[in-house]
Amino acid sequence: MESQTYDYIIVGAGSAGAVLANRLTASGKYSVLLLEAGRPSHPWSRVPIGFARLIDNPKANWLYESEPEEGSAQRTIPVPRGKLLGGSSSINGMVFVRGQAQDFDTWAQLGNRGWSYRDVLPHFRAMENYDEGEDEFRGRDGPLRVTDTSEGGPIYDALIAAAAERGIAHNSDYNGAVQEGIGMTQVTINKGRRMSTAYCYLDPARDCANLRIQTGALTEALILDGTKCLGVRYTIDGVAQEAHAGREVIVSAGAVNSPQLLELSGIGQPEILKRHGIEVHHALAGVGENLRDHYAPRMMWKVYAPGLTYNDKARGVKMVWQALRYATTGKGLLGLPASPVRAYVRSREGLDSPDIGISWIPFLVQDGYKLHNDSGMTVITHPLRSESSGSIHIGTDKPDAPPAIRFNFLSAEYDCQITLAAMEIVRGIMGASAMAGLKAEEIAPGPALQGDDELLDWVKATAETVYHPVGTCKMGNDDRAVVDENLRVHGIQNLRVADASIMPTLTSGNTNAPSIMIGEKAAAMVLESAA
Ligand SMILES: Cc1cc2nc3c(=O)[nH]c(=O)nc-3n(C[C@H](O)[C@H](O)[C@H](O)COP(=O)(O)OP(=O)(O)OC[C@H]3O[C@@H](n4cnc5c(N)ncnc54)[C@H](O)[C@@H]3O)c2cc1C
Repeated sequence: MESQTYDYIIVGAGSAGAVLANRLTASGKYSVLLLEAGRPSHPWSRVPIGFARLIDNPKANWLYESEPEEGSAQRTIPVPRGKLLGGSSSINGMVFVRGQAQDFDTWAQLGNRGWSYRDVLPHFRAMENYDEGEDEFRGRDGPLRVTDTSEGGPIYDALIAAAAERGIAHNSDYNGAVQEGIGMTQVTINKGRRMSTAYCYLDPARDCANLRIQTGALTEALILDGTKCLGVRYTIDGVAQEAHAGREVIVSAGAVNSPQLLELSGIGQPEILKRHGIEVHHALAGVGENLRDHYAPRMMWKVYAPGLTYNDKARGVKMVWQALRYATTGKGLLGLPASPVRAYVRSREGLDSPDIGISWIPFLVQDGYKLHNDSGMTVITHPLRSESSGSIHIGTDKPDAPPAIRFNFLSAEYDCQITLAAMEIVRGIMGASAMAGLKAEEIAPGPALQGDDELLDWVKATAETVYHPVGTCKMGNDDRAVVDENLRVHGIQNLRVADASIMPTLTSGNTNAPSIMIGEKAAAMVLESAA
């Protein structure tokens, strides 16, 4: 068995782990081993529309599924997770949303010093390279290229005008001073290419002599000596390996795999560990708890006005034009983010900030992610800070077995009420007079469904997540917290978790930007404690 020693070992090369690898090696002072279970890359991961090709592709995706539950009418729900360098940032929808100042202020109010919006804003600014917006809020020199979507045209103009009719103002920078309003999506796309953390953070660090990137390396357990973490055990092509960390191990395996790795290593709820024959090293009740995600109905409208949606614009031989357009300009269907326009709105007056997110997709899909024969639009909406919480726990002691994912969606009454309010607001915008030119007709849930119970039954029968699981190794100091405000695992030395799993609550939007920020902040904390 091969065994080597590095200053730092990072498990998982995703949105957060790739950032850590870049920042910890930059000074040249520290040696770093970055272990990634997946492959180096996938050809579709550089092309934005590759999102639709990778969402169910076992070569780049763990392809997890939730357990059947009441909130999903006993369906299993897909839980895609990136399995390659860049992690989920290499397969995601490329939508760039930081969230609201209030999200991070809530984390700080929960007792996590150093995580208020004021504290995290410098990291958000340092990570990005965005040309627009106010300097006070936006960064121009970071590694992550962020741009405005290249989409435009009658559908978007109509939507913005329709929202205005409903009192929702246009906002040209929802990542700036305020999130509220409707605006075109900011994206991690540049010149038609996906900007993953593999591309923006790992590629520039790849040649550092002090960084070893090992792909195809499934980390199976942490090596623990009493309350100290010494290193990791991993396998490459089934062959066992060990690596030791002179300073720290940082687990960045994401919201599904980070709690799984802690449990496989004997850190978690004793009953669960014992049930699967795992020796309890350290009892920690919160491991795998507090799972949160955005549960979102897909509402659909047929569009009878010709030539407006991508169902029409990419039909048959027109797809050749889309391919040519992409090859020459980087634009069109192949260069599209998951949704090119979005709105953040309040369910009622009197709220401090928006509690609902809405995003529009300029086409309909069928059989998974194939373009539908009919022309239309899909509208995805959800509460921004869902309160239903579930869990992710191992189902066996096998490191390559999928853990059991239980979301408990719609178990919180708040989520039911805000989901209903969100659908009503969507119907209001789609029914505004500015939309008349599209000749749009609601087909899902369909105008016949109006009552709360009927609509909630439809949501349970059809909704999916928008792929934002967080919170399963939450940061805090209560009895369900897994890491402290410095991301150190409670009760274990030389071990941190840094990824979406540490979020105590959901951020008000998509979770890639906050996960990258967590990687940036974690790197700063690690370097500070090393100095
Ligand atoms: C299909 C999809 C669409 C999405 N769309 C958007 C979007 O448009 N905008 C947005 O902001 N967010 C989006 N998200 C969410 C966002 O991408 C994630 O929240 C974010 O990438 C999470 O970062 P992370 O560092 O926590 O985990 P990840 O980026 O998932 O990284 C975890 C890494 O660890 C590796 N790993 C796991 N277990 C092990 C192990 N045992 N040993 C070694 N390596 C391991 C994984 O292979 C992976 O590379 C989407 C996610 C998905 C899956």
